Amino acid sequence: MGQTQDMHTHRLDLEDATLREWDATVLHVDPEQGIVLDRSAFYPGGGGQPPDRGVLLWGGVRTRIAGARRGDDVYLVPEEGDPLPPAGTSVTGALDDARRTALMRTHSAMHLLCGVVSRDYGVAVTGGAMDELTGRMDFALDALPEGFLDTVQHACLAEVAADRAIEVSTVPRAEAVIKTALDLLPEGLEVVRIVDIVGLDRQADGGTHVASTRFIGDMRLLKTENKGKGFRRIRFALS
Ligand SMILES: [Zn+2]
Repeated sequence: MGQTQDMHTHRLDLEDATLREWDATVLHVDPEQGIVLDRSAFYPGGGGQPPDRGVLLWGGVRTRIAGARRGDDVYLVPEEGDPLPPAGTSVTGALDDARRTALMRTHSAMHLLCGVVSRDYGVAVTGGAMDELTGRMDFALDALPEGFLDTVQHACLAEVAADRAIEVSTVPRAEAVIKTALDLLPEGLEVVRIVDIVGLDRQADGGTHVASTRFIGDMRLLKTENKGKGFRRIRFALS
């Protein structure tokens, strides 16, 4: 295993957000932290997007993957009691497609909402959270204009209908002209991954997104909440 100790997971999820099934080899298994593959499409969580779930199949055996996390590598967390594939095992990895697709649509909806509110109201996003098909986003707004929620709702649906491309690229850190404060990016990061809803919103982001805004689908703004001075929250749901 000395050879595999130095290897790290190749992140297929960062290259192709549509990938749901792939072949891989187990690099090592840590009873505390989980399973490390040479190639993995499991999103390990981060940037507000929860981790993927799925399975590893090997020689007629199934290991359910309850989640994933990033440590010094991407660790897949097995369901308790499931058999663990030993290092060197060839496996087929598969994601829970419904969950991943829902999270991609939701993550892209977060960026779309961020783009619409910053463009139309000139305010900053101060926080947010998402799960499958639901999200909330916080804005540095004081009083809300009359009809705010309806107006933003219409603008969001117009942007979904406009079917703007969502492009992922990487740029050298020095060239990253983006909204996200550069000091929030991990130290030593030489390239910055950019997610661009072309013409609407451009952010440094490590998540997985749909290919264009029409795939976000039906997006309903549910309500606004007043969380204090300069702090308004919008909740939304996708169906
Ligand atoms: Zn994001």
